[in-house]
Amino acid sequence: MSHSLLVMKFGGTNMQDSAAIRHSASLAARWAQQGVRVVVVVSAMAGVTNSLLSIADAAETGDIAAANDALAEIRHRHMAAAGELGGRPDSATVRELRELLETLRQAIYGVYLLRELSPRSRDLIVAFGERLSAPLMGLALEGLDLRAHHLTGGAAGILTDRHFGGARPLPQSAERIRDRLGGLLDAGVTPVVAGFMGETEGGSVTTLGRGGTDYSATILAEALRADEVWAWKDVDGVMTADPRVVPDAQNIEVLSYGEVMELAYFGAKVLHPLAVTPLQDSGIPLRVKSAADPDFPGTLVQRDTHNLPGRPVKAVTAIRNVSVINVTGAGVLGVPEVVSSLFGAIARENITLLMVSQSSSMSNVSLAIPDADAARAMEALRQSATDDLTYEQQTGKAVLAIVGGGMRGQLGVSARMFTALAEAQINILMISQGSSELNVSVAIENSEVDEATRAVHAAFGLGAPVGD
Ligand code: ADP
Ligand code: ASP
Ligand code: MG
Repeated sequence: MSHSLLVMKFGGTNMQDSAAIRHSASLAARWAQQGVRVVVVVSAMAGVTNSLLSIADAAETGDIAAANDALAEIRHRHMAAAGELGGRPDSATVRELRELLETLRQAIYGVYLLRELSPRSRDLIVAFGERLSAPLMGLALEGLDLRAHHLTGGAAGILTDRHFGGARPLPQSAERIRDRLGGLLDAGVTPVVAGFMGETEGGSVTTLGRGGTDYSATILAEALRADEVWAWKDVDGVMTADPRVVPDAQNIEVLSYGEVMELAYFGAKVLHPLAVTPLQDSGIPLRVKSAADPDFPGTLVQRDTHNLPGRPVKAVTAIRNVSVINVTGAGVLGVPEVVSSLFGAIARENITLLMVSQSSSMSNVSLAIPDADAARAMEALRQSATDDLTYEQQTGKAVLAIVGGGMRGQLGVSARMFTALAEAQINILMISQGSSELNVSVAIENSEVDEATRAVHAAFGLGAPVGD
């Protein structure tokens, strides 16, 4: 099928060094040279986002030496790649890289002087990863004789709320994006947009949450009414389980937006949990594709569920480092207000609630929450406390989930999961079924996650290629 506009997203691995960037650029060029208008969206070079976060923390705690060492490494990596991609020292792009690196150094020094790192400053600093990688992609595209122009997320029109670290696009973004990128595309220029980031009305840099470049790509695609979004990855596509954990994991040919959201929510790092949300109205398809094997179809993510007979479950996924918070006391007893006040507290704090279950005696509610949010959750719960409730936090847990549209209304699917876990002698701490009926999740011990994933994957026959 021929396309007129594609948004192509390249992740950190596809941007990790000059060779990877050159290969990524060649993929974009392959379609651009056939007359397809291509918008390129890039992640930071692999590891740079994590490094920037540690640099910011080091500066805040006063360890400027450590911050400077890590910054020198980032500088070296980008300057070396720029040179390898043909950027001459006196060229505009290389000068711009030097200026960006200098501004980054000053921002970090500011944090060090103030010993203060607000969510807003952290976003400013961490978004430099993508601001620095976009010019490199621009160089690589120019090296392939394409005209390219790189922009920050904000300059490309992505306007967000002020929720630093997890910003959401505002509706006005769509028109801005069309304004900012339409002219370039009409002029035959390939826009290269720094992913992961946007900008508030006041011009502050925001980030869309970890893995946010997937989300940038779909926001742009929806605004530009692209034919498709292609997320190039270091895996074949979305697979039946993390291939690093389950060696016989298979590629999934088709998934619905809903299924992919559940998968991402329950820990499959392959896409940002909100990545498909901008596409829901238009139904624009998203393809997850392998950069190493570009002709392989990968995974098609679309609006409709595509169920295969005998395959109620499509994938198994897990989130590690989860806390289970048990709320106990006579007060819980069947009183909806108690449960709703707990949820209210959790929602106000923007805490990810992975699972909720109530014991059959009704005097206990358990909540599963990422360890990183647990301290805030405990505090919020205590603040909202109704008398005589006790809160107890257990760390070192994990949530394992099975996901698939074919589970709806099917009997025996959960039983199969529980039996597989029992046979592997894995203790289940909590059970919950999502109201969407697209998932069943259980809380287990962190140490048993990999074994549990493999056992459940096998129990649903997911290691066999479809059709066998
Ligand atoms: P990118 O840099 O392109 O954003 P990520 O590293 O964020 O890519 O996501 C790809 C990684 O996600 C893979 O290397 C893989 O280990 C991991 N992953 C976890 N679960 C899955 C899954 N179900 N299917 C594919 N990849 C998965
Ligand atoms: N670089 C960012 C991250 O590591 C965004 C992304 O890669 O999508 O989270
Ligand atoms: Mg990612």
